[in-house]
Amino acid sequence: NPNMPSNFIENIINEDIKTEKYGKRVHTRFPPEPNGYLHIGHAKSICLNFGLALKYGGKCNLRFDDTNPTKEDVEYVDSIQEDIKWLGFDWEDRKFYASDYFEKIYEVTIELIKKGKAYVCDLSAEEMRQYRGTLTEPGKESPYRNRSVEENLDLFEKMRAGEFAEGSRVLRAKIDMASPNINMRDPVLYRIIRIKHHRTGDEWCIYPMYDYAHPISDSLEGVTHSICTLEFEDHRPLYDWTLASLGIYQSQQIEFARLNLTNTIMSKRYLRRLVEEGYVSGWDDPRMPTISGLRRRGYTPESIRDFCDRIGVAKSNSTVDVALLEHCIREDLNTKVARVMAVLKPLKLVIDNYPEGQVEELVAENNPENPEMGSRTIPFSREIYIEQDDFMENPPKKYFRLTPGAEVRLKNAYLVKCEQVVKDEQTGEILEVHCTYDPDTKSGSGTVSRKVKGVLHWVSAAHAVKAEVRLYDYLMKTEEQKEEEKESRDFIDSLNPNSIEVLKNCLVEPSIKTAQAGSRFQFLRNGYFVMDRDSTADMLVFNRIVSLKDSWAK
Ligand code: ATP
Ligand code: MG
Ligand code: MG
Repeated sequence: NPNMPSNFIENIINEDIKTEKYGKRVHTRFPPEPNGYLHIGHAKSICLNFGLALKYGGKCNLRFDDTNPTKEDVEYVDSIQEDIKWLGFDWEDRKFYASDYFEKIYEVTIELIKKGKAYVCDLSAEEMRQYRGTLTEPGKESPYRNRSVEENLDLFEKMRAGEFAEGSRVLRAKIDMASPNINMRDPVLYRIIRIKHHRTGDEWCIYPMYDYAHPISDSLEGVTHSICTLEFEDHRPLYDWTLASLGIYQSQQIEFARLNLTNTIMSKRYLRRLVEEGYVSGWDDPRMPTISGLRRRGYTPESIRDFCDRIGVAKSNSTVDVALLEHCIREDLNTKVARVMAVLKPLKLVIDNYPEGQVEELVAENNPENPEMGSRTIPFSREIYIEQDDFMENPPKKYFRLTPGAEVRLKNAYLVKCEQVVKDEQTGEILEVHCTYDPDTKSGSGTVSRKVKGVLHWVSAAHAVKAEVRLYDYLMKTEEQKEEEKESRDFIDSLNPNSIEVLKNCLVEPSIKTAQAGSRFQFLRNGYFVMDRDSTADMLVFNRIVSLKDSWAK
C-alpha cells in the first residue's frame, strides 16, 4: 500500500493532516550551508524532504543557510544545486537564501527588543562561558541583562551601523539563566563579524546565529515540517521560543537520526581537511563520500535513492554497513550495463596452432541477464592476453584456471591447453604462455563434448586498447569511529594508506574504444567500472565502482 506511513515522520504528517494543523499542507525544505560539497548523508535528507513533498503533493524548498560568511562560497552553492538535480530532485522556483532575509530578520528583532525579550550584552566570550553555568549548576545573569529597551535599541542599531569592534558585543535572548537546557540560558542571537559575505558583500557586519535565523527562515517560507538531525533536539525549545516570541508562523521542527556509514568519514569539516591537505585529489575524488565523488566513482542516482529508501528514517543513531550502498549499485547495474572483457594485469598467451595473421570475429552476448541488450563481436587471433592471476605454474589444490597441461575455456572462444611456459632466464618471471586450441570447441557451436571448470576472459593482442584502471579501497581503515574519538585522536591517523591502486598497463576489448566519460561497464570477473573524465584518445581511464563480490548479508 503506497499510502502506508513508512516512518515516524509520515505518522506525524498524517496526524497533522487529519487535525488540519497546517490545513492540509505539507511544505518541507532542504537547508544546506554552502560551506562544502554535499555528501551521502545529505542525500538521505534530500530524499526525505523532497520525497515527502512528492508523496503528499506538497512542496520542498531549497534554502541556502548562508548566515555565517566565514566559510561560505559560491563554488559550494553551484555544486549543491548540481548534485540535487543529478539525484533527480527539483526545487522548481523555490530557491531561497537565508541571507535574503537579513533585513526581515533585523526588523523582527527590533520588535523582539521592544517586547523586552532581547538585550545587548557586553560580556566577552570567555565571561559568557563562565556565566553560562553547567549541566548541574544554573547560570548567572549578565550584568547587562536589565538594560532598558531604549538603550538596547540604540546599541543594536549601532552594532548594525558598524560602530563596535568584532566580538565586543552580542545580542542575546532574554530567557532563563537557570533553565536545565543550556541552549535556553540567554543564547546569543546576533554577533558582529567583519567578513565579506558571498552574496551581501559588506552590507552587514552583524549576522544572526543559526538557531535564530533558521526558525525565522522556515516561518517566512511557510514551512510546515522542518526536518533536521538529532543533535538539534535540545535546540527545539529555542526554535519554538523564537517563533512564539516573535508571534510569526509556527513551523514545526522534527529530528531524525543522521546517516553514519562504516569505513566512512562524513562531516564536511573532515572532508574539507582531506581536500585542503591533499589527502584526496578534490571534493570529487572517487573515494570521497560526497555526491560528486560517488558520481565520479560511477554510482547512479537510482542506486543512491534506492539506498536511502532501504536505510529508512529512524529516531535513534546507528551506523549503516557501507556494503549496503555497494549492494545497491550492483543491483542497479546488473541488468543495465554491458559485460565486456578487460585484462588488468596482462600475461601474453600464444596459440601455437592458430593460423598466423588470421582474425575471427566472435559473437559475444552483451548481458546474459538482459537479452534485450543484444550482442557484439570481438576479434580473436593467435596472440592474446589473459590475467597474470589466471595462470600458475605450481597451482594449489582447487585452482581451476590455466596450469601446465591443463585445459580452460577462453570466454566466447575456444578451449585452449597449456603446452609450454616461456620465462626470463635471469629473473624467472613468466613472459609468455604457449597453448594449443581445439578448433572444434568454438563457443555456441554446440560441438563441445567435454567440460572444463575454468573460463577466462582475454583480449586480442593486436586489437586491444590501452587503459589505466584505478582500483579503490575505503578511505578509512577503521569500520567505525565515534565522534569523541575523532576529536581526541586525529582521524588522519585512521586513513587507509592503500585506498587507491593505479594499474597503468591494462588492456580492454576494442568495442569500448569509443565510449564516453561516464559510460559504465561490467569488466567480466573484475567488477563494475566507469570511464573517467581523465580519459584521452591514447589512454582510456576507468574507475572501479565496485567489485562483483557482494558482502551484504540480508
Ligand atoms: P556536516 O555535519 O556534515 O558538516 P551539516 O549538518 O553541517 O553537515 P548542512 O549543510 O547544515 O550540513 O546540512 C544540510 C541538511 O542536511 C541538514 O538539514 C542536515 O540535518 C542534513 N544532514 C547533514 N548530514 C547528514 C547526515 N549524515 N545524515 C542525514 N542528514 C544529514
Ligand atoms: Mg549545519
Ligand atoms: Mg556542519
